Amino acid sequence: MHELSIALSIIEGASSEASRHGDVKVSAVHLKLGPLSGVVKDALLFSFELACEETALEGSRLVIEEVPVLVFCPNCKMERTPPSIQQMCCPVCGEWTPQVVQGHELELVALEICE
Ligand SMILES: [Zn+2]
Repeated sequence: MHELSIALSIIEGASSEASRHGDVKVSAVHLKLGPLSGVVKDALLFSFELACEETALEGSRLVIEEVPVLVFCPNCKMERTPPSIQQMCCPVCGEWTPQVVQGHELELVALEICE
């Protein structure tokens, strides 16, 4: 399963970040996820829970912040939200654009540490 290997790499990244702060317990991992990352949110949440078992992150939560897709319209010279991820065009003038500004995110943004 694709999401399982992603969950494992998140756990690995979070564990090494946490160990830099000493022997802390992570209560939550915050992740930014774009629709173009190819990752299914629910599958990732499920995989994370499984993959956490018997690691330093056992019992922590994965908090996913979903970021919308943004494209740059060369016609309007503005960032726009496309009608759908299958239709990468400007919702105002209809211009197709390959310039995706945001939406591929799959990044660790923060860790919450237990006191
Ligand atoms: Zn436009």
